[in-house]
Amino acid sequence: MAALEVHQIPVWDDNYVYLAHDAETGSTAVVDPAEAEAVLKAAEAKGWKITHILNTHHHGDHTGGNLEIKAATGCTIVGSRADAARIPGIDVQVGEGDTYQMGSATAKIFDVPGHTRAHIAYWFEDSDVLFCGDTLFALGCGRLFEGTAEQMWTSLSKFRALPGATRVCCAHEYTQANARFAVTVDPENATLTSRSAEIDRLRADGKPTVPSTIAEELATNPFMRADDAGVAAAVGLAGADPVAVFAEVRRRKDNF
Ligand code: ZN
Ligand code: FE
Repeated sequence: MAALEVHQIPVWDDNYVYLAHDAETGSTAVVDPAEAEAVLKAAEAKGWKITHILNTHHHGDHTGGNLEIKAATGCTIVGSRADAARIPGIDVQVGEGDTYQMGSATAKIFDVPGHTRAHIAYWFEDSDVLFCGDTLFALGCGRLFEGTAEQMWTSLSKFRALPGATRVCCAHEYTQANARFAVTVDPENATLTSRSAEIDRLRADGKPTVPSTIAEELATNPFMRADDAGVAAAVGLAGADPVAVFAEVRRRKDNF
């Protein structure tokens, strides 16, 4: 199979919706459609027919376009088995360890609770792409609305194990604000300092900072680095368990 072609659609203030196109079969998935109109237009401009919606979690800025897109295209909606009641129009329920076939492309499903209690992620290994919704952001992670720090650290640990070249297709452009916070809890990290400067340049030019890669996040995202001695020390928890460090970093970000 050929690698998926991924097209990023910025919508609203800071949401990203993605189209993932499988040239071999013509299948096209929409990941987390906040709304229908911008997505249908983008697909039409590409000449792609939408066949699937892949939802990472139930929030309205990820599922708001589900029913209208389904009505317009007859597509199949895929979402979390553990959250089926909150995913509008869900047809196929998936969870940890499942694979889902989208045309000739195969997604591996991870359960990644924390932001919501039943958030999932889609990893297309052969295309080096991860659709992670509001779990992992460039230099950040989702707020813990329905889960615990321990759950979120376990969820992020699944992403930490992925190949470094994996593209992190997250659902929001929060990177610049995340960078301002990250340097306060990882002040000695020179790679972070230079990434932060690069992010400022990209945003000044009106360019996206997403997707990043797993390798970049491992090197610079404090939420992925809760087991790092420098981060632990910076939040006054030298030698502490990564879950405790993660919880403290998350707490500080919530109050930043
Ligand atoms: Zn969300
Ligand atoms: Fe969101």
